[in-house]
Amino acid sequence: MTEPLLFELDKKGRRGYALPKLDVPTVDPADHIPTKFLRKQLNMPSLSELETVRHFTRLSRMNHSVDVGFYPLGSCTMKYNPKVNENIARLPGFANIHPHQNANSVQGALKLLKTTEKYLAELTGMDAITLQPAAGAHGELTGLLIIKAYHNKKGNNKKKILIPDSGHGTNPASCTMVGYEVVNIKSDNRGCIDIEDLKANITQDVAGLMITNPNTLGLFDENIGELASLVHSVDGLLYYDGANFNAIMGWTRPGDMGFDVVHLNLHKTFSTPHGGGGPGSGPVGVKAHLKEFLPTPFIIEENNTYSLKNENDDTIGAVLGSLGNFSVIVKALAYMMYNGKEGLKAASAYAVLNANYMMKKLKDTYYVPYDRFCKHEFVISGKTFAKHGVKTLDIAKRLLDFGYHSPTIYFPLIVEEAMMFEPTETESKDTLDGFIDVMEKIAKEAVENSDLLKNAPVTTPVRRLDEATAARKPDINFYRKP
Ligand SMILES: *Cc1c(COP(=O)(O)O)cnc(C)c1O
Repeated sequence: MTEPLLFELDKKGRRGYALPKLDVPTVDPADHIPTKFLRKQLNMPSLSELETVRHFTRLSRMNHSVDVGFYPLGSCTMKYNPKVNENIARLPGFANIHPHQNANSVQGALKLLKTTEKYLAELTGMDAITLQPAAGAHGELTGLLIIKAYHNKKGNNKKKILIPDSGHGTNPASCTMVGYEVVNIKSDNRGCIDIEDLKANITQDVAGLMITNPNTLGLFDENIGELASLVHSVDGLLYYDGANFNAIMGWTRPGDMGFDVVHLNLHKTFSTPHGGGGPGSGPVGVKAHLKEFLPTPFIIEENNTYSLKNENDDTIGAVLGSLGNFSVIVKALAYMMYNGKEGLKAASAYAVLNANYMMKKLKDTYYVPYDRFCKHEFVISGKTFAKHGVKTLDIAKRLLDFGYHSPTIYFPLIVEEAMMFEPTETESKDTLDGFIDVMEKIAKEAVENSDLLKNAPVTTPVRRLDEATAARKPDINFYRKP
């Protein structure tokens, strides 16, 4: 598959548009714009509309996406994003307003934001929500700044945040950014927090515990009540990384489990597109005792009229230059409204069912380190193929040849040669069965034809790349090379 650059397709004089003859007087831009701002020439390729459409369509077909095929990337919740969400977000009343418009001219938008806050508060069991953070990691930063503001106000001398060794990489990174020291807590042989190790680390300088439940192994920690009271006993706070919320919508709530702060990833659980680098949305919810620390402005509702309140003594301040990534929030609210309470519950139930079905089916061929019911995702290990010289990376690359996105690999760090799958609720049993067949076929290849796996992928537009260099120094001329 090769694709020239637009500049190479350039044919001088070709046009992608036709304008009617001007029926107003022409003006010379130089009479209106200072000459230093005028372009002397604009180097643009000349192409017809159809050539341009084909170029971009061909490029898009070199990529994998949820709309093309199964995308079981664990922890990322790559579920189908219903197209009706896009139509709703593009309604002129939503699409053509400005974040700094006067509150009385955007009452509908403010009502939409307030409604989203209420729904998310209900789903998480929290008392107040901010929609400002633009991603999960941004939500973590916001939540940790709130935790820090709480301790500062009380005069608590806190230095540490506890994070289990299965935690997502953004968790320790966010703690470090707000100036907390990270203490790793061990997992027990069931994949949950080792209570004894937690007890040993509960000291007066603990600011909080940051976990996701179900955790990144897809396992629910039933000891959460005990964990919460241990942390609260030293006035520590519990932070819930809600990236795994797709497992529990409507079944249980972080607020009921004892959490004080939670972030959600609307671009995961609430079905808005992600994976291309944004935009995302990572709302943060807090219990009443932390409400005063939330970012400003607050959206205030009085007698069905909405206004913004900026002043608030204890706020951590704004974390975004607007009230949030509005179009993402519109899509997420649309998703919640047409699914309703029962629909959201069903989505989580099917997500969990699909993950357990896949895990059970793969158990005959792959090693399952934590052999118990999982939630919305599960982890297997490729270590049993080491004797054939095959690594998890080779298995993941081979999946691309069959038209599937690979699972998350080498995470969580506590599982050797880890592969983490999250099928989501939007996949049919046929899709799951097709994928399981391919996983079995690859396991057979690993034993009988390991060289094939080590050279995979062999059918994709680009072959095996050095992943670090490919991300840092992208080579857009790859297709020219033999
Ligand atoms: C995705 C994810 C995050 C970070 O969210 P972003 O929106 O990518 O910043 C944090 N924790 C877990 C468990 C995740 O899966």
